[in-house]
Amino acid sequence: MRNRTLPSVALCLLALGVAASATQAPAARQLRVIVFGAHPDDAELQAAGVATMWAAQGHKVKFVSATNGDIGHFSQAGGPLAIRRTAEVKECARILGITTDVLDIHDGELVPNLETRRTFARKIRDWQADIVIGHRPYDYHPDHRNVGVLLNDTAVVVGAAFFVPDTPPTNGNPIYLNSADGFTDPTPFRPDVVVDIDAVADKKFQCIAAMPSQFADADSWQGRTLPNMPKDEAGRKAYIMETVKGWLASAADEFRPQLIARYGQERGSKVKYAEAFQINQYGRQVKAEALGAMFPR
Ligand SMILES: [Zn+2]
Repeated sequence: MRNRTLPSVALCLLALGVAASATQAPAARQLRVIVFGAHPDDAELQAAGVATMWAAQGHKVKFVSATNGDIGHFSQAGGPLAIRRTAEVKECARILGITTDVLDIHDGELVPNLETRRTFARKIRDWQADIVIGHRPYDYHPDHRNVGVLLNDTAVVVGAAFFVPDTPPTNGNPIYLNSADGFTDPTPFRPDVVVDIDAVADKKFQCIAAMPSQFADADSWQGRTLPNMPKDEAGRKAYIMETVKGWLASAADEFRPQLIARYGQERGSKVKYAEAFQINQYGRQVKAEALGAMFPR
């Protein structure tokens, strides 16, 4: 569900990368990455670009939607919407070459309680994740905030043998990362790694297009809330997609210095779409440079 002011949407959406038939160098060691979003579109917006680039290199990526998205629409709700949205993110996963799960928790009702902490921990342990990505706990939406809290709350226990002993612990503590957003209080997002996703941008846009309940329906959140929406269906779809592309482009512009530092002046100054991540202080700690080397270039 998206219900934020345009600038913050734009910043959140900088995570919205797209995948192409990337010709990446083979991976030296297979990484296992898990990305948590609050709703069936958030992991996709945060990390579709890096996910499909990692997958093309032979790494394993799973997206998890912490809720089933069953209220974020103006004319549909409940089980039928949850089923529709699950099918949409599965199609996204197929496009990106990753796997995806949707937790059967009602949209708008994610609570950082012990039961859900266990559920998150089991997902991370089942995946044997090296890297865990998700929202920061500073966000307009309670489900987004609570994903951030829940991830923070799992950071130490995923490696504890006797916490949810029905699943094997991770081999040490994973690296935890937070995806970009535009919120500044109590502290703004800090871009520790910013990745050029231009080579896979089309795949990210295909993924967005595969979620019409979020990004195309007249009664979708974007269809209802974006200003100056065209009346015709083709015009509306194109307008929403162009709006999303604009958000992503604004993110690359915001993190231009980091892109130039990573890719050099020539390439870094030309990157159009990027995804950015911050090292979370509660997971395994790595230097930003070492983290950058783990991401596709
Ligand atoms: Zn959301």
